[in-house]
Amino acid sequence: MEYVTVKDVEVPALGFGTARMDTDEERYRAVSTALEVGYRHVDTAQMYGSESAVGDALADSDVDREDVFVTTKLDNGNRSRERVRESTRASLDRLGTEYVDLLLIHSPNDRVSHEETLNAMNDLRDDGLVRHVGVSNFSVEQTREAEDLSEAPILTNQVEYHVRHRQDDLLAYCVENDVMLTAYSPLGVGGLLDDEALADVGERHGKTPAQVALRWLLQQPMVSAIPMSSRPEHVRENFDVFDFELSADEMHRLFERRGGLVDRLADALGL
Ligand code: NAP
Repeated sequence: MEYVTVKDVEVPALGFGTARMDTDEERYRAVSTALEVGYRHVDTAQMYGSESAVGDALADSDVDREDVFVTTKLDNGNRSRERVRESTRASLDRLGTEYVDLLLIHSPNDRVSHEETLNAMNDLRDDGLVRHVGVSNFSVEQTREAEDLSEAPILTNQVEYHVRHRQDDLLAYCVENDVMLTAYSPLGVGGLLDDEALADVGERHGKTPAQVALRWLLQQPMVSAIPMSSRPEHVRENFDVFDFELSADEMHRLFERRGGLVDRLADALGL
């Protein structure tokens, strides 16, 4: 496993996503396989309906709770002071755990101020129910605002990021400000798997397009990735990304998929 070190916290760089599965049985099987294979970072959300299955899989696994980095996210209707507290307690019940490692605002608030939500999240952190706080689907400006508002550090901004969906400005901001960028839909929801450049680079390493798509993310500073799969063979395949490295040329070639690398980001990434 590789780690992202953010604000002195070590987060497993590869996590397991749990959206997009239909049944608890499917979710339980997938998360159990992921833990067995070696994933130590699991991404869930109040919205996904996967918290109970994640909790069951964690409880039945041989892996100790403290060895797994668990993230959940506040649903849109749970952003007031009271709802943050109540809904997080309900999440903890479903997850069968006394704390989550990371609690995120799932997407920017439209009815409640970010200040109110972040203050409530900070209180949960003070009470030990939440280790770290963060945001998701925030712009650079919103991330900066959240950093100003929150007493506790904003550990991550979780956003869509993959070779066909770039986040140049946000990534540069994250590298410069010690914030982790958690890449969701790192396989483009499966849409990247027929990408010719990924396949071509993969052939040289004996790896699949999915593995190259993940490797490209993991080699970028401050980036973690949370692919999801309901199939054991894909769960395994996506974890098998720590025994090869993309060259600087290959990294550049994949950045070329969408117009090359801007100078500011090239500097930040050391490419
Ligand atoms: P993704 O991980 O990019 O892609 C998942 C899709 O790819 C599934 O259909 C899966 O099908 C397929 N797949 C996975 N590995 C494969 C492989 N090795 N070969 C072939 N196909 C493969 O998409 P995602 O679910 O959108 O993103 C991952 C996680 O990010 C989510 O589960 C969720 O935890 C998080 N997320 C967060 C937000 C947010 O707003 N914060 C939004 C979206 C997602 P099979 O099941 O058949 O393998």
